[in-house]
Amino acid sequence: MTLSRELFEVDLTFHCPGCETAVVRKGSWIKSAKVFICDACSTQTRLTYGLKLAIFDAHLHPEAPPSLPATRGQSRQ
Ligand SMILES: [Zn+2]
Repeated sequence: MTLSRELFEVDLTFHCPGCETAVVRKGSWIKSAKVFICDACSTQTRLTYGLKLAIFDAHLHPEAPPSLPATRGQSRQ
């Protein structure tokens, strides 16, 4: 499983694990970034490969969101 090239130019959304602010970044940014620092709460999140895959996968399969630490507490149905 790899990061889909077709999403490099697409805006992807994830949530800050510190304050749950929705963050939008290009797929290419997510691919190359190592750390995300939240503008709102300054929480630093290590963008591991597994987390990147989960963010990409959540875009491809929004009906089956993965259990990211970033989405804890959200019950959207
Ligand atoms: Zn935050």
